[in-house]
Amino acid sequence: MYYSEEIIEEVRSRNDIVDIISGYVALKKQGNNYFGICPFHNEKSPSFSVNRRGQFFHCFGCGKGGNVFTFVCEYENFSFPEAVKFLADRSGIALPEVEMTPEMKKHAGEKQKLMEIQKEAATFYYYQLRNGSGSTGLEYFKNDRKLSDETMKKFGLGYSLKYTDAMYRYLKEKGYEDELIQKSGLCDYSEKYGFNDKFINRVMFPIFDIHDKVIAFGGRVMGDGKPKYLNSPETPIFNKSRTVYGLNFARTSRKDRIIMCEGYMDVIAMHQGGFTEACASLGTAFTYEQANLIKRYSKNIYLAYDSDGAGTAAALKNIKILHECGLGCRVIDLKPCKDPDEFLKTYGPEEFEKRIENAINGFMFEIGKLREEYPPGNPDDETNFQKETAKKLCRYKDELERDNYLKAVCREYGIQEKLMEDYVRKVSSAMELKGDEDKDDTAVTGLKSGRKEAPSADDAIKNAQRAFLTFIVEDPPLYLKLKDYISVTDFTDPLYCKVAGIMFEEIESDGFNPGAIISSFPETDDQRLVAEIFSTKVGNIEGDSQKNQTIKDLIIKIRDNAISDYQLKNATDGNAIMKTIKDRKALDEFKHKELNLY
Ligand SMILES: [Zn+2]
Repeated sequence: MYYSEEIIEEVRSRNDIVDIISGYVALKKQGNNYFGICPFHNEKSPSFSVNRRGQFFHCFGCGKGGNVFTFVCEYENFSFPEAVKFLADRSGIALPEVEMTPEMKKHAGEKQKLMEIQKEAATFYYYQLRNGSGSTGLEYFKNDRKLSDETMKKFGLGYSLKYTDAMYRYLKEKGYEDELIQKSGLCDYSEKYGFNDKFINRVMFPIFDIHDKVIAFGGRVMGDGKPKYLNSPETPIFNKSRTVYGLNFARTSRKDRIIMCEGYMDVIAMHQGGFTEACASLGTAFTYEQANLIKRYSKNIYLAYDSDGAGTAAALKNIKILHECGLGCRVIDLKPCKDPDEFLKTYGPEEFEKRIENAINGFMFEIGKLREEYPPGNPDDETNFQKETAKKLCRYKDELERDNYLKAVCREYGIQEKLMEDYVRKVSSAMELKGDEDKDDTAVTGLKSGRKEAPSADDAIKNAQRAFLTFIVEDPPLYLKLKDYISVTDFTDPLYCKVAGIMFEEIESDGFNPGAIISSFPETDDQRLVAEIFSTKVGNIEGDSQKNQTIKDLIIKIRDNAISDYQLKNATDGNAIMKTIKDRKALDEFKHKELNLY
């Protein structure tokens, strides 16, 4: 970790999780918990819970969970140290200089070197564009794309030579080792050919992070080579799905809007035309991370996509992703031009500004496209059109919002409001019963982490271990009454074992603190699982005798598994055999014992 445990704990304890999360999500108190609509998946009824006493959150729908750090990391797309900084600033805690372990220093050193390499490469490409051998590239930018020197400079545009190892030789000359050059993504290595440049005879677009540092490149081929556009592969400093091209400039544009385009050239043309709020996702469709990233800078999103079929398809897909991340958007009509570049060249920035003003609401755009699929006139098409529209309206969980869209659609397409209202209500409750909201969407299913697989014997054991811990979370002193029958080593699942270890120790010393326990797990996946332990409801167990029995059964299951596990691992050890026999006997005695916990 970057910061000491003490400072992390101080930051955590000074930022109440309910206060922080209610800045993002409307929460309602319900019993001991607060509930709201989950910001991480699309839902209509609140299954996102926040626990003030334990200082953790958990979503019963998508399974996300953790403490206050996990939340801001996920929501704001922060790294852990960024989250600590953000929350420390918020609560007026001065952070000390970072403390790094040798391992971290090595890792950080490598990242820093990779950043240096990208910078060197950018300088090299930039130089090549302006000197003899880069003339094809320069002509392309100047004559075909009409870019000014100023624009080319701002975006650091360059050119990669026709030689197959120009970059490799350049980086070697600068003293970088092969291993690092390979990791930079600028050169490929094969046994047969050795090192070869990744980018050959292409105009080069440096890709910046939001702090204006070059982290990767995109290249467009000169001539007919394939592929036309090529990006750097992912590297330790380049995560494609978390990077938005041009956002480093757009975020400081001082206009409260972001215009999303399809590619580098669109973004650059837009900036040259004065629209410095333009940026692009790398690839046609947004990722959730990218949507959450731009959300940090503006909630007014415009799409300036190509007016062809592919552009429309990308727009439709992204409207949905943006909606799922809580963002509305508007679609800019570029017809009769095919893209923003052509539009600006033909009609100029003032006309473009008018198109922005007249941009159509993303949802209405979707319905418009649906209408094209089912043109008016034929009753069957009309029915299908209205049915599909109703389904789309169900996406809005807020009644007021849904009603407004419903009215707008009905007005626009001459549909009877009352009819539509009734139908939407019917579809909506049917969808809720089936529990599938937009089943077709793989992006959303991806979030749901496959928790519907059939349970195996292994799962049964894990479930027992988790359920036991959940009982203890609900009533920590219970552990003191049970500690003679069960111990940390009985938890064969490594994660649960670690949680049990910390929990039991804390309960003994009277300082049980779920939010702090979550901090000791660096991986968000683990944080999610730990938060799940803390918030699992222990079924509908009525009456003390039933509770006693349930806990007894859990202990038997966990102990029985632990003994078998131990036996298996120490099969040839004489002492272990003796221990196993003893443990089995003790477990048998326990089975006949009456537990009186309540
Ligand atoms: Zn959720």
